[in-house]
Amino acid sequence: MSQLIKIPELFYHSTIGTMHNTCVLCDDDLLSYEFGYVIEKAFLRNKATGYFETVFEYAICKECQQKLSGEMSQESLLNIQRYFIQNALQTEQFSNMFPDVESRMHICMVKGVSVLEMNEYQVGGQFKKDKMMVNDTFPYALGEAAITEIQALLSEKTKGFTNKFKELVMPPDVKNNVPENRFIFL
Ligand SMILES: [Zn+2]
Repeated sequence: MSQLIKIPELFYHSTIGTMHNTCVLCDDDLLSYEFGYVIEKAFLRNKATGYFETVFEYAICKECQQKLSGEMSQESLLNIQRYFIQNALQTEQFSNMFPDVESRMHICMVKGVSVLEMNEYQVGGQFKKDKMMVNDTFPYALGEAAITEIQALLSEKTKGFTNKFKELVMPPDVKNNVPENRFIFL
């Protein structure tokens, strides 16, 4: 199953309020780039207001994504793969539980519970120009428990890489919001 739909507002840039339009790394124009891009976005509940706020977000083009994911250690990649095989809902359950895109953006793909009840979650999606791709894996949401479990699987090498990614790539206002060693889903 793979289709292209209008980009949901959840994936809009939180400060400009429209679609992400440049790659965080190479600055290419994503809305004309034909090979597609990935967006990752993390939310944290503001304890005073009770509303979710964007902690960090970035869009990265396919080419930069491939270059970077080569830097993650093989060990971490295998650990994360194994984690998903053992813990995540399987594809069939997944499609039954999440018949629509809306629920996939709000239900943790590992735990199968609503992330809107939690204090922290993140979402990821694959995009092509001004459309979002819907397939077996994307879009997804991960809640705080799953994030913590995946975090624990990262090797030292990969932690070094995610910290480097953060330093090199993220604009200062984004970078300062990303926790140390936070895994990045490339
Ligand atoms: Zn790029």
